[in-house]
Amino acid sequence: MKRTHTACLITIGNELLNGDIVNTNAAWLGNFLRTAGIPCKKMVVIPDDQDEILHAIQQAVSTYDLVVISGGLGPTKDDVTKEVLAEYFDDHLIRNKEVEQHVVDFFRKRGRNMAEENYFQADVPSRSKVLFNKLGTAPGLLFDLPDKLVVALPGVPYELKYLCSAFLLSEIEKKWDQQERNVRRHWFRITGIGESDLSARLMPHIEPEIQPDMHLAFLPHPGGVDVCLTQVNGESEQSFTSVVHS
Ligand code: ATP
Ligand code: MG
Repeated sequence: MKRTHTACLITIGNELLNGDIVNTNAAWLGNFLRTAGIPCKKMVVIPDDQDEILHAIQQAVSTYDLVVISGGLGPTKDDVTKEVLAEYFDDHLIRNKEVEQHVVDFFRKRGRNMAEENYFQADVPSRSKVLFNKLGTAPGLLFDLPDKLVVALPGVPYELKYLCSAFLLSEIEKKWDQQERNVRRHWFRITGIGESDLSARLMPHIEPEIQPDMHLAFLPHPGGVDVCLTQVNGESEQSFTSVVHS
C-alpha cells in the first residue's frame, strides 16, 4: 500500500503560549504543506526552552518525513533553536560569510546601528543548507537526511512565507516525486491571448469539472499565460484527467 508522507510543525515562542500573538504561522504552514503534498499531521507549540525544543525535534523526526520548525532563530539570548539543532545533529555553528555580509548591509541600508549580537545571525550549523533570507536577517536552515527533511524558519510571518515559497517548496519537490506527494499537476502553455480573455473563455467550460481538491492557477509571463492545474491528495485520477481533456 502506498504510504503517505507527512509533516509535523513545531512552533516555538513564549508569546504564542501566553496568548500575546496568534499563531498565524501554523495556519499558513498547514495550508502550505497540504498544497505541497506533504500534509501536516501534528502541530506542537512550545516555549523558547532548549529541553523542550530538543524533545520536540526528537519526537517529530522519529515519526514524520518533514519537520518544520518556526521561530527562535533571532540573535537574542532567548532564541535558542540553532543551538539545539546543532546539538541534535551533533554539529557545531560556523560563521557564514555571505549571511554576515547580508546582515551588515541590512542594517547599513536602513541606517540602523548594528548590535554586536546581530553577528550571531550569521552563525549556522555546519551541516545545514542555508536558505538565504533577503527579507530579514535570520536565514532558514535545512537538514537533508535520508528520506527526511528538517527545516527551521524564522518566526516573522512574511519572512517565513518567503522562504517557504522561494526555497522549501522546491526542496520538497526535489525530495519526493509527485506520486510520493500524491500531487497531480498539469501545465498548459498558452500564447496569443491575455490572461483575463483566456480566463473568461476557459472557465465556463472547465469550472463545472473542477473538484474541491483541485486548484487552477493562471500565471501570465511575457511569452503568454501558463495555466497550471493541481490536485493534491486527490482520490480520483479520472476527475483530474477529465478536466485536462475538457
Ligand atoms: P527574529 O530574528 O525576529 O527574532 P525569530 O526567528 O527569532 O526571528 P521569533 O523571535 O520567534 O522569531 O519571532 C519574531 C516575531 O515573529 C515575533 O515577535 C512574532 O510577532 C512573530 N511570530 C513568531 N512566531 C509566530 C507565529 N507562529 N505566528 C505568527 N507570528 C509569529
Ligand atoms: Mg526572536
